[in-house]
Amino acid sequence: MSERTSEDSPASPLNQGHIFSGSREEMSKIPLLDLRPQFERLRDEIGALVLGVLDHGQFIKGPEMMELEEELAEFAQVDDAVTVGNGTDALQIALMGERVGPGDAVFVSGFTYVASAGAIQLCGATPVFVDIRPHSFNMDPDDLETRIKRVKDAGKLNPKVVMPVDLFGLPANYERILAIAEAHGLTVVADAAQSFGGTIHGERVGSLAEVTTTSFYPTKPLGGYGDGGAIFTTHPDKAEVYRSIREHGFPAGDRSSAVRLGLNSRLDTIQAAILLAKLRAFSGEIQRREEVARQYDSRLEGIVELPLRPEGVTSAWSQYSIRLEARDAVRAALNANRIGTAIYYIKPLHLHPAHESFSEGPGSLPVCEQVSRQVLSLPMHPDLAPEAIDRVCDTLIDAVRSV
Ligand SMILES: *Cc1c(COP(=O)(O)O)cnc(C)c1O
Repeated sequence: MSERTSEDSPASPLNQGHIFSGSREEMSKIPLLDLRPQFERLRDEIGALVLGVLDHGQFIKGPEMMELEEELAEFAQVDDAVTVGNGTDALQIALMGERVGPGDAVFVSGFTYVASAGAIQLCGATPVFVDIRPHSFNMDPDDLETRIKRVKDAGKLNPKVVMPVDLFGLPANYERILAIAEAHGLTVVADAAQSFGGTIHGERVGSLAEVTTTSFYPTKPLGGYGDGGAIFTTHPDKAEVYRSIREHGFPAGDRSSAVRLGLNSRLDTIQAAILLAKLRAFSGEIQRREEVARQYDSRLEGIVELPLRPEGVTSAWSQYSIRLEARDAVRAALNANRIGTAIYYIKPLHLHPAHESFSEGPGSLPVCEQVSRQVLSLPMHPDLAPEAIDRVCDTLIDAVRSV
């Protein structure tokens, strides 16, 4: 995986470019993300589980990988979870499982990390970018419907999959998206890289669509200490296909012949051990993220546009992202006060050179384009202290009033 900057992905660790902070001289810094306190909390559990792997020596497909898959499935309230090498591979394997290939159209939210489009193009398929709703930042079901009809009318591509993205941790509007997909005979492959831990009416992300992928990149709500990902499915036969694709297309328990095209994308046992320790603390961390978000909400209401909270939906709070006109000036003021922020995303998918040929260029996704000029992510992690949140809010409120 190539290097990322804080400008291009929620996956980027910190503005200062490393995951751990906390040297004495840096006490007044409030980073976007600080994973050091989490490590201090879980140090013994993580250490014991990692040592266990070093002792038994099954570094690939060891018992911790199987255990993690069982606990992930249980957490997500689905029959099966298949771990893979990273969240991008999870998307690609899920698409390969649907036999997505050249001539197929995959409808994807236009406001997301480039990996969502990359996985589609790597399958040889055509991404069709769908505009977002201005307040949820998630796929606009009306625009989805319009674009499916347009592709059907043009008659050149075969509409096959819808890929909603749960941006910043907020589950997309699955009720409408699933209905539209069903009406047009499309499968939903949900990119939940940022939303594992979120719910709709009490139902967990992972169980909201037939196929859901997530990422365990260190900065995601459930993050490891390296790359990792998983695919959740409610379909009885699909998990077996994913397990085969992640291992060169071999069927279960038989390495004599590869029965389909596959890749090499397993989750290391050591990484699985780390994630097991973190998963066991995850519910409490999601609760803490919710408390952080509520403190921001109460301080910033009426001052900037707050993240939307649709009825019955809970976010995993991968990011706490506000919208404001004077974004760049306010960001500079926060930066001057040693408060870390990030812009996810500086540009929508259709304006990246790697993806623009699949779009009609600037102006073709107006909401994505406008939001990308106004969005700003504030410090968010389970160990963010109430006093730190207050300092972020004080600084932000001053900045908004003085621009
Ligand atoms: C992080 C992310 C991915 C990719 O996950 P990796 O584990 O980094 O490969 C895909 N989609 C979205 C929306 C993401 O945020």
